[in-house]
Amino acid sequence: MVLADLGRKLNSALSNLNKSPVVDEKVLDELLKEITKALLESDVNVKLVQTLKKQVKAKVKPALESTDKSKEGQRKSIIQKAIFDELVQLVDPGVEPYKPKKGHPNVIMAVGLQGNGKTTTCTKLAVHYQKRGFKCCIVCADTFRAGAFDQTRQSATKAKVHFYGSYTETDPVAIASEGVAKFKKERFEVIIVDTSGRHRQESELFEEMKQIQAAVKPDMTVLVLDASIGQAAEAQSRAFKESADFGAIIVTKMDGHAKGGGAISAVAATKTPIIFLGVGEHLNDLDRFSPEPFISQLLGMGDLRGLMEHMSDLARQNPDRQKEMTKAFEEGKLSIRDWREQMQNIMSMGPLSKITSKIPGMAGLMEGLAGEGTDEEASRRLKRLICITDSMTPAELDSDGMLFLRIGKDNKPTGVTKRVLRVAKGSGASVREVEEVLMQHRMMANVAKQMGGKNGMLQALKGMG
Ligand code: GDP
Repeated sequence: MVLADLGRKLNSALSNLNKSPVVDEKVLDELLKEITKALLESDVNVKLVQTLKKQVKAKVKPALESTDKSKEGQRKSIIQKAIFDELVQLVDPGVEPYKPKKGHPNVIMAVGLQGNGKTTTCTKLAVHYQKRGFKCCIVCADTFRAGAFDQTRQSATKAKVHFYGSYTETDPVAIASEGVAKFKKERFEVIIVDTSGRHRQESELFEEMKQIQAAVKPDMTVLVLDASIGQAAEAQSRAFKESADFGAIIVTKMDGHAKGGGAISAVAATKTPIIFLGVGEHLNDLDRFSPEPFISQLLGMGDLRGLMEHMSDLARQNPDRQKEMTKAFEEGKLSIRDWREQMQNIMSMGPLSKITSKIPGMAGLMEGLAGEGTDEEASRRLKRLICITDSMTPAELDSDGMLFLRIGKDNKPTGVTKRVLRVAKGSGASVREVEEVLMQHRMMANVAKQMGGKNGMLQALKGMG
């Protein structure tokens, strides 16, 4: 997960609040001190942190001063909500980015300094939109860096994305115009124009950007920024903005940099929306960014919208199962077979921790799965759990798992049932492992239940578009 360290510190501060028997000004100050420290360590600008602190204090003041005993219990949730909202504010520029439209030639132009990850990001973007059913292509208008076209060619070929460029043409404006015109004629829907970068912000770079912008008239220009510059992202994005207007930002290399929090908040302060975060070198390592789910995930509260999007990507790859799976989620009923399929899908989508951090309550469970170990160990353990289901009968797989349990008078499972013993024996696993499969299934089924139904989150998410 990106900013895992910051997330852990914020979480620990909030859980201290939860444990505290009384909630008074002293407890609040202590909490804010910890949060402030965590944010500053992530390179968030001091002024922004101070504003956050002031705002939280102002919001919770009435609750803290109230002598109404009945309201005392609400103090914790009022404080938590205030902190959540202010963290969202910190990364929210309050501006909606451009959204590519189907059946329209959406031209997206990428700009940024050399080495920031522009070329990689262009291919990642194409992969992202391609997965969502857009016909995508890349135009390489970087004539400055030797080997730029080869890099585009290689990564676009790997991603099965059409591309355009030239080994001989030296005028980037000509290449950009020709490429965009060709792809528009061929009815491509997302046309990504990769431009050249320089090591520093130089007037020639800005001039070239302006000329390409004038020639291809992009629907959206995206600035690609490297997270490692932390709060210096503000100055860089302002410098670019003064020269060539852009509508959105992608912050790359969020996977490796503790300073990413600084970069995100600095960019938000310039009132430009961040649309994606680059979270690794692979083509799928691009996370859609949106303030509220981001903070929710950072605080270990999951990102259901991200999860849904992920699942529909997977479903698109296997349309036959799409309907059944959506139905299972909508009705809030998830069989062990559904669970197994989800887990297999999740495993095929790259690092486990990245996916599970989107599922409420799963991030902690993931730690249980991997212990202090790596993603790889967690994958191995999950694979083993999946194999256990091979020893279940079809009826057991299609069930909600309840038939494995013997329920006591207090409505809690008691003892180990013969079924569990049989599956353990059949799969060569321990009883504990079989129980873990059942528990993991129950966890996901609970998420499905929360999401399903007329008033469930799934409907709410659909409403959000
Ligand atoms: P450009 O000069 O801006 O086009 O940058 P490149 O696309 O060539 O990327 C520069 C380096 O950064 C390459 O080694 C990429 O693999 C790497 N890179 C790009 N995006 C990310 C990211 O999100 N995470 C990590 N870890 N590396 C990245």
